[in-house]
Amino acid sequence: MANILIAAEESVYTANEQKEGGWRGEREFILVKREDESSVITSFYFQPFDNQGLPDFDAGQFLTIVFDDIDGVAVRRNYSLSDAAGKDYLRISVKREPNGVVSNHLYNNIQLGDKVKLRAPSGDFTLRSNTKPLVLLTAGVGITPAISMLNTAAGSGRDIRFIHAAINSDVHAFKQHVDTLAAGNNNIKPLYIYSQPQTHCQPHATGFIDASFIEAQLPADRDVELYVLSPIGFMKSALTIATSLGIPNNQIHYEFFGPAESLMPIRINK
Ligand SMILES: Cc1cc2nc3c(=O)[nH]c(=O)nc-3n(C[C@H](O)[C@H](O)[C@H](O)COP(=O)(O)OP(=O)(O)OC[C@H]3O[C@@H](n4cnc5c(N)ncnc54)[C@H](O)[C@@H]3O)c2cc1C
Repeated sequence: MANILIAAEESVYTANEQKEGGWRGEREFILVKREDESSVITSFYFQPFDNQGLPDFDAGQFLTIVFDDIDGVAVRRNYSLSDAAGKDYLRISVKREPNGVVSNHLYNNIQLGDKVKLRAPSGDFTLRSNTKPLVLLTAGVGITPAISMLNTAAGSGRDIRFIHAAINSDVHAFKQHVDTLAAGNNNIKPLYIYSQPQTHCQPHATGFIDASFIEAQLPADRDVELYVLSPIGFMKSALTIATSLGIPNNQIHYEFFGPAESLMPIRINK
């Protein structure tokens, strides 16, 4: 078993290295831009220190950021790419976690021009490029890979429902970006639901998602590709609703930013 896993990992490393602009192991990047996306999520833009190219990646993939020494400890964390491939930067969008080691290090200590080490984009939670309607159902920081998928598929003409749940507009990342994209592409329909809206918030709905809320966004034949990205509680509800509404199991895709065991017992067998 161990040998099979090592061989699988080796084949990913080799594939990453052989891509044009690709690399194996760690590569140095420079922080060239940072931009607040909400009161709790900030985007970090990185360009290669060696000025060589960047590889293509699939929307939904993540990179790994490696720090050799934060308070004497070597740490690494995975972050989803939050923009489409084909740019001259790699962008991640990070939620500042209370007492989180790496997220706070990025926010507090990494300045424009500083170097960081990144491992190449990888992961098999990726956007299927077909013509089925696309439903991106996210909550909180789960929005990050969905933005990469949205940016990738926006111009395809494919019907896209971009459903995002947030506490309120203050913590709702990328709202202006999604609204602007939707204004220029009538195949994109955003739908925002806030659990604790403030007086200045203008969500499409309030409270929490339920079956009738999701059903209203689906075609009668349920033949959609659904991507769910969110914290654990929302994920459990969303996956239960998706299966109860009859979306085919092999068209329900999900990624959780923590250990998969936390999703038991509602993991979907594909
Ligand atoms: C595939 C994938 C993609 C991801 N994409 C993103 C992304 O796009 N954006 C993003 O923001 N995150 C993403 N994550 C999550 C990210 O990898 C980190 O887990 C996250 O940023 C927290 O890291 P940290 O070092 O800041 O926090 P950590 O130091 O790991 O701590 C995490 C939380 O646990 C708490 N904690 C730590 N130690 C203890 C303890 N002993 N007792 C109690 N509580 C404790 C901390 O207070 C903190 O709130 C992704 C994860 C995966 C697996």
